[in-house]
Amino acid sequence: MFDDHRSPLEDRLADPGLLPGAGDFPAAGRLAVRDPANGALVAQVAISDENGARAAVDAAQAAFGDWSTTLPQNRAAILHRWHALLTEAKEDLARIMVAEQGKPISEARGEIDYAASFVQFYAEEALRPNIEGVTSHLPDAEMELWREPVGVAALVTPWNFPCAMITRKAAAALAAGCTVVIHPSAETPLSALALAELARRAGFPDGVVNTVIGDAATIVGEWTADTRVRALSFTGSTEVGRLLYRQSADTVKRLVMELGGHAPFIVFEGADLDRAVAEGIKAKFATSGQDCLGANRFYVQDAIYDEFCARFARATEALSLGAGMQDPDIGPLIHDRQVAKSQAHVDDALERGARLLTGGGIDAELGPLFFRPTVLADVPDDAAIMSEETFGPVAAISRFTTEEEVTARANASEYGLVAYVHSMDPRQIYRMTRALQYGMVAVNRTKVTGAPIPFGGMKQSGLGREGARQGLEAFTEIKYICRNWA
Ligand code: NAD
Repeated sequence: MFDDHRSPLEDRLADPGLLPGAGDFPAAGRLAVRDPANGALVAQVAISDENGARAAVDAAQAAFGDWSTTLPQNRAAILHRWHALLTEAKEDLARIMVAEQGKPISEARGEIDYAASFVQFYAEEALRPNIEGVTSHLPDAEMELWREPVGVAALVTPWNFPCAMITRKAAAALAAGCTVVIHPSAETPLSALALAELARRAGFPDGVVNTVIGDAATIVGEWTADTRVRALSFTGSTEVGRLLYRQSADTVKRLVMELGGHAPFIVFEGADLDRAVAEGIKAKFATSGQDCLGANRFYVQDAIYDEFCARFARATEALSLGAGMQDPDIGPLIHDRQVAKSQAHVDDALERGARLLTGGGIDAELGPLFFRPTVLADVPDDAAIMSEETFGPVAAISRFTTEEEVTARANASEYGLVAYVHSMDPRQIYRMTRALQYGMVAVNRTKVTGAPIPFGGMKQSGLGREGARQGLEAFTEIKYICRNWA
């Protein structure tokens, strides 16, 4: 799929003999990858079991000594080549993603840019000094802190951002001098294998980047138990995050956890309503609603409540729904469990007295995974959608009266990933950004992410940060050296 003169996606995906990379470790069967838009078989990939998982760690451990001592400029050069190859293959990678994940092709292209930006950022970070001096508190002593790579890092990623969640972790780990074993979601193995193939072409030595597809509990269970795996970086649901946290306790691994979210979207009277509606649409319906940053609860102040609801419902009705290659606003959901959850949240809210403004269920003509963008108003706080992550295109709107009230309701969540605030009052913005218990606060806008910022959540939305300089922390240990100089 990366050849210059063919269009390659069809060639490769039609080849039941698998993408390169799939067979690096002992095969234990095959996994069918299906297009969520129509259920068609896209490809089959080889899967591994615990033997493959162990073989991957063997390879990563064997490669660690050389990779961790490779000069930083040489590590940076390979990362820069990976970035160039990702950028050249953008269209192919985007099409692979649409075929297995279903997202609109424009969003898939955007994700490849986002994924590549982490590789570029960490290629540059690889060159930054990793030694700090300390002003000595002891006589005749000279002190230094060295940051050293931890060793083999296990990276476990979800299906909603099949490329960016891998590069956000892998580029940081590789720049730090770690070797990696990667387990992508069973829904999106092709994107992961394509990234692995481009990594191979970029020149990472054998054993530095290892991708293992297979049963998640088996593969990741093997890694959490393995003392050679020194760090685990996980992105996925809070439920699985808790399990991996417990599983990692016996070997005391360094952990990064990017878990679920339940973003409040707060609109105060006096906000720019046009902007609040437009940004709200993005915050709710990007990635077809399957986004950890997705606005799950809209709180709108009394005086503008009715107008906001009417305008938001109109803007939602204008959204197009279709297969990802048609580049609609919203694509199919990934599988029937996401559809069932979205439907359950709608039904539950309606039973509790919410009003349906638009949508409400699947578009059966398009297919069983196409959920119509939905808006619910007057949703009570005890509705499931007000506390559980929906991960689907359903907006729940609720009215509030005072700033104190909405702050308390916004913070009454086990999650703390991102919060959105719309206000034109600078002092109110200051108070809100102080009071919200969220790792990221977006004011009068939606997009906040990017390689230079530390992404991550408070409370049960996770541990640690990814991106920025902080993204290197979990992959490095501090060694303190104290030397006599007299
Ligand atoms: P998931 O937790 O089901 O799966 C995530 C990964 O964990 C996959 O690779 C899966 O194979 C693996 N996994 C699943 N069960 C496992 C088990 N028993 N043992 C070991 N590994 C296991 O999540 P998902 O459905 O793929 O993704 C959606 C979730 O991810 C949402 O909750 C979303 O909020 C979250 N997410 C968070 C961020 C973030 O940066 N905070 C980004 C994207 C997605």
